[in-house]
Amino acid sequence: MNDPTLVSDAVRPAIDKKALLAKYIEERDKRLRDDGNDQYIDLNGAFADYAIDPHTPVVPRDPVTDHVTFAFVGGGFAGLVTGARLAEAGITDYRIIEKGGDFGGTWYWNRYPGAQCDTASMIYMPLLEETGHMPTEKYAHGPEILEQCRRIGRQYGLYEKALFHTQIREIVWDQKRQVWVITTDRDDRFTAKYVGIGTGPLHIPKLPGIPGIKRFEGKSFHTSRWDYGYTGGDANGAPMTGLADKRVAIIGTGATSVQAVPHLARAAKELYVVQRTPSSVDVRANAPIDPEWFAGIATPGWQRRWLENFTANQTPGMAVEEDLVEDGWTDISRRIKARVVTLPPAERSFENILRVWEDSDFEKMEEIRARVDQLVADPETAAGLKAWYRQLCKRPCFHDAYLQAFNTPGTHLIDTGGKGVESIDETGFTVAGKHYDVDCIIYASGFRVGTNLSGLVGFDVVGRNGVKLSEAWADGMRSKHGIHVHGFPNLFVVTPTQGANLISNVPHNLTESGRTIAAVVAHAEDVGAHEVEVTREAQDAWCELLLSGPGRSLRTAPDCTPGYYNNEGKDPGPAAALAVGYPLGAHAYFQYIDSWRQSGAFDGLAFT
Ligand code: NDP
Repeated sequence: MNDPTLVSDAVRPAIDKKALLAKYIEERDKRLRDDGNDQYIDLNGAFADYAIDPHTPVVPRDPVTDHVTFAFVGGGFAGLVTGARLAEAGITDYRIIEKGGDFGGTWYWNRYPGAQCDTASMIYMPLLEETGHMPTEKYAHGPEILEQCRRIGRQYGLYEKALFHTQIREIVWDQKRQVWVITTDRDDRFTAKYVGIGTGPLHIPKLPGIPGIKRFEGKSFHTSRWDYGYTGGDANGAPMTGLADKRVAIIGTGATSVQAVPHLARAAKELYVVQRTPSSVDVRANAPIDPEWFAGIATPGWQRRWLENFTANQTPGMAVEEDLVEDGWTDISRRIKARVVTLPPAERSFENILRVWEDSDFEKMEEIRARVDQLVADPETAAGLKAWYRQLCKRPCFHDAYLQAFNTPGTHLIDTGGKGVESIDETGFTVAGKHYDVDCIIYASGFRVGTNLSGLVGFDVVGRNGVKLSEAWADGMRSKHGIHVHGFPNLFVVTPTQGANLISNVPHNLTESGRTIAAVVAHAEDVGAHEVEVTREAQDAWCELLLSGPGRSLRTAPDCTPGYYNNEGKDPGPAAALAVGYPLGAHAYFQYIDSWRQSGAFDGLAFT
């Protein structure tokens, strides 16, 4: 154990685990509420204005009525990498349908100040090797990631047939013609032999259902629709001069807020950071990437080596000497592993591994709480910013300026003690009976998660015999690899779930899915198949395999504070048991899927 970040048992202060657990449960209990996901408001009806695209004007166009080989819903990483892999396989008649005004997905919408990837750019940014792009920073900022999306789009010819500012109404299988019929809100009605869906898990913004929210007469917007026309500045970090005389509230302290707050603290006359649950905010240590160093490591196959190294480091029980990536995620996993190796091999049972994992978590969270004391001058504010839960109960955050922002004169933490904002009126908001007058309210309140399929993707897919995907998945998602669904020929879903489920680096899941889809489609075309579909037996066997794994034990740990990771503390129902990944972990999945593709047998799929 020669990792300098690890403290030996001899010098590590003893942690009173019982007291900590009691504190975690006390804090969780303050936050439990009956309404779960229903506490949030969707951006439609009276709130539709919050959803308007502030980045690109909608250009009128004629409806499209043609046929394409492959139609993909979503112009984020999933659609781009699938298009790239298909183009490499010679399938270029590819159309992306995207609700935004350009490619980029999450990076198209989220242009809030400070937006930056939280996983190292070297592995987070897709197709770096193929596009020859060197990330400028260890954690690239939003505009650079958005530009990488556009670069992929240009390089692989994906702009040619793309339909932007277009939302799917329905996708229906036409058995007679063996094509999918796609209709959209721009009155398009076209067909495609194959369809892909990769809309991402977090693309529908939500607002907190705070009483009176609609009454506010000042400026307000969601972080994914940042209005630089009002704030001044831009996504590249130009100062937001429009806020110099403004009192601003930002509601929410998740990963988005953590990145935006330092910029708001600098710009606003007064900033109120309204907190319901603190995030855990660890060191980020961002740095520019040295082109000389990069030239040295960027030898053929480099990005795949880095991806594999990261995933291996993330895999509990897998011994890896080297940590190429060295980001916040590998720090977490290496610490856990260092604990696991202290167990004699004969004692490495699942329960014992979870126990030492818990020890490592307690220790890490104590460090993160100590970091708050080190960085925040006012003791009351520091106390309010400490997160009392296990690190993976909520999305871990990494930032080198967030906590320090609370030392800026005019920046105030408004800690709601887990209860949230009481009410909003014409002039501001109220917390614990105290009213705060503000000019602007920014909602950093996140995105819809964990609701039914059609709610989440915004439309339904009607497969063979008129069966809807939402019906087929009413009792939980069923697929092989998270990609192929029985009853839905020539359809490919792109999601980490039921595949590697590598949450710490989502793009890796997507690039691998892109490879798999391209291999299957190329094979179907080679053998002259009209349809490719997973058999029911193969799908059932895959689901059985998924259920044999450890499941969602961490995310549903009973002491976890509510949040979208655990369905806001509500029982997600039996369907959630299938929202898991390959039982042997992400690294094993990537190896498995590679050999599944390479074998050329495409076991479990029927080509007809
Ligand atoms: P989150 O859902 O993580 O955060 C929403 C915030 O709003 C929470 O702090 C929540 O509190 C708070 N909130 C909700 N209702 C109220 C209320 N009534 N009163 C006060 N506060 C309220 O959304 P984010 O946009 O921050 O992040 C979503 C996800 O997007 C992240 O988890 C991450 O996966 C991804 N992301 C990734 C980034 C990256 O990789 N660089 C950057 C940003 C986001 P509570 O916690 O109590 O529910």
